[in-house]
Amino acid sequence: MKNSLFIGKIAGIKIFIHWTFPIIIFWIIFSNLRMGLNAEQITWSVVFILALFVCVTLHELGHALAAKRYNIKTQDITLLPIGGLARLEKMPEKPMQELVVALAGPAVNFVIVIILFIFLRLTKLPTDFSVITHVSADNFLLSLAIINLWLAVFNLIPAFPMDGGRVLRALLSLRLNRILATKIAANIGQALAVVFVFIGFFNNPFLLFIGIFIFFGATIEYEQVKTGSILKGHTVAEITMTDIPVLKRKDTVGIAVERLLNGQAKNFLVMDEDTPYGTLSREGIIKALQNHSKDALVEDVIERDIISIDVAKPIEDAFVLMQGNKYPLLVVSKNNLLYGVIDMENILEYIMIKNAVAGSPV
Ligand SMILES: [Zn+2]
Repeated sequence: MKNSLFIGKIAGIKIFIHWTFPIIIFWIIFSNLRMGLNAEQITWSVVFILALFVCVTLHELGHALAAKRYNIKTQDITLLPIGGLARLEKMPEKPMQELVVALAGPAVNFVIVIILFIFLRLTKLPTDFSVITHVSADNFLLSLAIINLWLAVFNLIPAFPMDGGRVLRALLSLRLNRILATKIAANIGQALAVVFVFIGFFNNPFLLFIGIFIFFGATIEYEQVKTGSILKGHTVAEITMTDIPVLKRKDTVGIAVERLLNGQAKNFLVMDEDTPYGTLSREGIIKALQNHSKDALVEDVIERDIISIDVAKPIEDAFVLMQGNKYPLLVVSKNNLLYGVIDMENILEYIMIKNAVAGSPV
């Protein structure tokens, strides 16, 4: 994730702390000061929050290691003030597998609770939490056990895309198709998100942000599932532009601007004689205009990385490559020869047409 500090690697997975993370520490210090606690008591609170985030990391590792069983890699884990985020390559599509991956996180917290309670029993430390007003040396482990229990239970609230929401989608997917199951789970998630925002607004700013996060997360994931299902089974061949918008490497930026204004193409393949030399996107042309003169050569402002995809590959592969504008234009090859190009617009048009043909999609 952007704007994050790398803190280490566990089981091959990089762990990051997001720059907003210290907000939670400041928040704790601030609210403890308002409660009138002394320096020692505040220190215990801060240590407690750090211990809590170790547990959050273990929770995320639970998801990551469960996903690994199904050969799904985890890109990284990032700690935010509102919790942890494990970026899995994808979610397993088989309901039973998604169920296992979703439950693995809260299961880790339940295991921590059990271990801590056994330890408290064996060492005859107090287990009565009704008297706790703030974290101290005496009740540190008990407080940690309780917050882990709360973490597990909170995550199991069926607010998709939280863990409980994923469990719900997986269970619905056993009976319904995945798009409909996601739609129902996402709608329930959004309704709960509104409740979180409402409660959070009056009581807890972190809950407010969690609510916002869930609301948009549910929308995005539903769109992704819908898009994925439309593209499934179709190949790059179906959307390739064989009439390639071309610029020569010795063309000027001025010519590129003209081509952009006079035609349909937004992204160009830059050629050196008959060989692809680079790509130039609309954003690239605008940037070149800001930083260079119109007489600058195209070859000096282009992107040299050329990403090629075979015509027989699934459209989903191209979609993943172009997401986030990483590679705005892909070169399509057939038998290792230049066949055409595709950009995001081709895919989006394809999705729109398929949507229109299908009538109103679920
Ligand atoms: Zn989780």
